[in-house]
Amino acid sequence: MNSIKTVRQASREVPVACKSDVVVVGGGSAGVTAAVSAARNGASVTLLERYHHLGGMASGGMVLVLDDMVNGKEITVSGIVDEFVQRMAKTGDAVFPPPEDRNGELANRRKWSRWGAYDFHQPKKPFPILYAVAFDPDAWKRTSLDLIQENNINLRLHSWFSEAIVEDNQVKGVICQNNSGRHAVLGDIIIDATGDLNVATSAGAPFIDGKFIVTTVFRLMNVDTDEAERFEFDNPEEYYKVDREIRRLIGGCWDHWWLKTPLPGVVWCNCPHMPGYDGISSEDLTAAEYEGRGRMMRAFQFAKENLPGFQNSKILGAAEQVGVRQTRLLQGEYVVTKEDVAERRYFSDTVCRGRDYYTPYRALLPKKLNQLIVAGRHYSAEPEAQRSSREIPPCMAQGEAAGIAAALALNGNCSLKEVSAKAIQKQMRAQGADPGDVPSANALIEHQSEEEMVYG
Ligand SMILES: Cc1cc2nc3c(=O)[nH]c(=O)nc-3n(C[C@H](O)[C@H](O)[C@H](O)COP(=O)(O)OP(=O)(O)OC[C@H]3O[C@@H](n4cnc5c(N)ncnc54)[C@H](O)[C@@H]3O)c2cc1C
Repeated sequence: MNSIKTVRQASREVPVACKSDVVVVGGGSAGVTAAVSAARNGASVTLLERYHHLGGMASGGMVLVLDDMVNGKEITVSGIVDEFVQRMAKTGDAVFPPPEDRNGELANRRKWSRWGAYDFHQPKKPFPILYAVAFDPDAWKRTSLDLIQENNINLRLHSWFSEAIVEDNQVKGVICQNNSGRHAVLGDIIIDATGDLNVATSAGAPFIDGKFIVTTVFRLMNVDTDEAERFEFDNPEEYYKVDREIRRLIGGCWDHWWLKTPLPGVVWCNCPHMPGYDGISSEDLTAAEYEGRGRMMRAFQFAKENLPGFQNSKILGAAEQVGVRQTRLLQGEYVVTKEDVAERRYFSDTVCRGRDYYTPYRALLPKKLNQLIVAGRHYSAEPEAQRSSREIPPCMAQGEAAGIAAALALNGNCSLKEVSAKAIQKQMRAQGADPGDVPSANALIEHQSEEEMVYG
């Protein structure tokens, strides 16, 4: 056994690779949206991503349905997410039910459930059809790259963030590591979109350790989805028996363990659910990879032998990234609670929203630190609140708002904390996004707090 517990690393000079107005760390759905939004508002932007692709969980994690975008019939997340949908739909890489099919009629459930476009927030089954978008992961990567290139963003792939550069509580830039060594990337404003709160944590922002199930998402090919759907709807009892055994072998999944994708005969499997893993520990993520693949093989083999439509199927592959839903969570200027999300509490400094809940600007801002803002699944929330407010569209909406906030601070020569939420709301609307400034009829509206008045 090695008895050495720590080693001392000598401090050293690090070359500066580049400087821009805004540095976005993390090229997932929130980071790409933040970068595009900041650039469109006049900032020079550098985007850093550790992998060779953009999209994070939405592409490398193969999470292939955009949901959490509607409050009844009202579409509540729009803006840059719509651009993704429209661009991908043009090439057949995004599929969603038209407005006339969004209801509980059997014919529409039969047509759309296996696209994942059903309302699982309803208390009772069968779930009605709603607006949600199934998409192809490589199309997501391509669309992300196109938007980054079109907006003249300085993209640096293969750049692992390792340390924040902080002076007197001002975040001035980041240190990255790649195969050519360590280098600094400087910026006037830094947006942490790493999903694991890497930058804010390194800079000293208060946070808590969150944890939720992890998943090695996988895809199967050569599936006769028409035959499988016929069996499900025409022989529900028999289907249920086979389905129950597959779910037992997978060991945890949501209502539908397989969903259709825009690629004919290819289905994605948003399972297994594996509790107890720490999504930032390399030991745990390695163990999850073994466990997830083991469960995948057992369930696949049984489906192939017993589920009509799956007899000729093959494993297309597991996602490049283990699906991590929750790790560190910022404890920022406001911490969104489980009740805030469940009761649809409206804040007057709301700058973006998910299905029916509202995200105040303060939940993107760390305490103590200046010139740093966060966007994405690590935003300031209680673990229970984050679990039901972490889908791709609301993460993108946060990114869009964070990009605007960064540009407003630069243009106004003020700190992020001095930017008014009203100004962010106005620009969100100008960009076609819903900032949540106008509460829906089912929102919980209380008196404005003093903090809201400061930011509002
Ligand atoms: C299995 C699973 C199923 C889900 N199902 C759905 C669903 O059906 N629909 C839905 O809408 N949402 C779903 N979600 C939630 C959703 O996918 C995520 O919450 C959302 O994609 C998070 O986006 P993000 O940009 O905040 O983070 P991420 O997508 O995690 O992006 C973070 C980015 O930062 C990069 N990064 C991290 N650390 C560093 C570093 N040190 N240096 C440089 N770059 C770094 C990562 O590589 C990544 O690109 C699911 C999530 C999981 C895991």
